Amino acid sequence: MRRTQRFAALVLGLSAFLGSAGLASAQTARPAVAPPVSLHITRSPQNAVSAEYRLARPARALHFAPQLDGYRARDWQPATPDFRWVREGDGERIERTDGQPFTRLTFDIPVRYRSLEKSYAPFSPFSDGGLLVYSGHFQTCTALPCKGTEPLAVTIAAEGATIGVGGKRTDASAAFTSREEGTNIYIGSAEPAATSGFLAIVDPALQPVLRDHLLESLPQSMRDFAAIYGALTITPELYVSLDPQPPARTGLSSQGGTLPGQVFIHLYGDGWRKPIVPNEVLWLDWFFAHEAAHFFQRAGTNDIIGPDSEGWIHEGGADAMAALVMRERSDTLRRYVDRRIAEARKACATGLASVALSNASRAGKFDLHYQCGMLIALAIDADVRRGSAGARTLHDVNRRFFATVRAGTPWNGRSFLEAARRSGVSPPTLAAITMITRQKLTDPARQIDAMLQQAGVDWQGMDRAVAEPAAPSAPATP
Ligand SMILES: [Zn+2]
Repeated sequence: MRRTQRFAALVLGLSAFLGSAGLASAQTARPAVAPPVSLHITRSPQNAVSAEYRLARPARALHFAPQLDGYRARDWQPATPDFRWVREGDGERIERTDGQPFTRLTFDIPVRYRSLEKSYAPFSPFSDGGLLVYSGHFQTCTALPCKGTEPLAVTIAAEGATIGVGGKRTDASAAFTSREEGTNIYIGSAEPAATSGFLAIVDPALQPVLRDHLLESLPQSMRDFAAIYGALTITPELYVSLDPQPPARTGLSSQGGTLPGQVFIHLYGDGWRKPIVPNEVLWLDWFFAHEAAHFFQRAGTNDIIGPDSEGWIHEGGADAMAALVMRERSDTLRRYVDRRIAEARKACATGLASVALSNASRAGKFDLHYQCGMLIALAIDADVRRGSAGARTLHDVNRRFFATVRAGTPWNGRSFLEAARRSGVSPPTLAAITMITRQKLTDPARQIDAMLQQAGVDWQGMDRAVAEPAAPSAPATP
């Protein structure tokens, strides 16, 4: 799923949901047949939205999954008092207090930033009054089972504003179908900035030096990966919002991630108002490189990217892709990347002492998929380089793997390691990776170092490099 980490900053990201099939999540056409439920969102002047569900047939409840740490029950106030929220396994439902069926239900919902433990924020407010609305949290079912990915016909009304959804911008109203992991809907009046290959909406209150840096950093990663994997066929959207009313004592915090065709990051905390030089926020470059990598991972594939238990493939893979392209850019970034690798080695060894990687997500340690996954992908990179005298890299393994997924092979550890084997990764390195990904380790620090050593990763050199004063500290990446 996604994870949170508080450091000098908080970066929250999404993973298991990232994968889906490219652009399918938002469509602007109205469905020909009346859907069982439709949603009508109206922006109200009081920094709130009204969300009205209309049911084609009477039902006794609307079911939602997941439960979002109680967010809906706290913030979604039914317009009439005869409804109540009820926990339901990992999800929740809303029903009439008298148990009778209904066909209409309206909520008044304040537009507030909420940091949710395992999911995207429902709203990302911009300082000029614009906002992003994450449609995925509105997806619902009139009967169980409910996965939360069921299609939902949505209309949006916002007088005097532009609405951006599904790659289109319209005035005052829009309609689309939210499906799978949903999408971010933009409501506001900002004009997209001209930047190569992107439709970018960046908060006007962001410091110019940071704004210019962000508008260069993401395209740079996109160009780097396009040169390796081929150009994307889509023009992604980039949203950078700066909270006008950040939660107290949040410093330099952020939350972001990707959805099909979108990269977004919400910046909150007083720190963003103080002078910042780009070298102090190299983790933003890492964030964008990681998110850009996801676009190339899923380009042309029709699969959700794997189960949570194998998140190391896409999250660690994206971190490794970020590491490989960023370290070529400058000495500063090379030191920064080395430091992240050294930190990942420690975090992975510590984490795997208490849980197997395949159980990390269930144990609330999804971060290990980034840290251990990056080391695994870098081991593959080093091994395949050594075996080919530098002619092949992780990117060749990835290209082969993505091609097999496009051809119908599932996105999982078995097919990834098969692609690695066919690309020339040596049997001892493959055996070390198989052990680390499938079983509880007896001595993780030693076993991880053995994998790195076997593959030829110079982690001792990186450790020495990061012992010197170098790049600023790094929060983790979504
Ligand atoms: Zn990610």
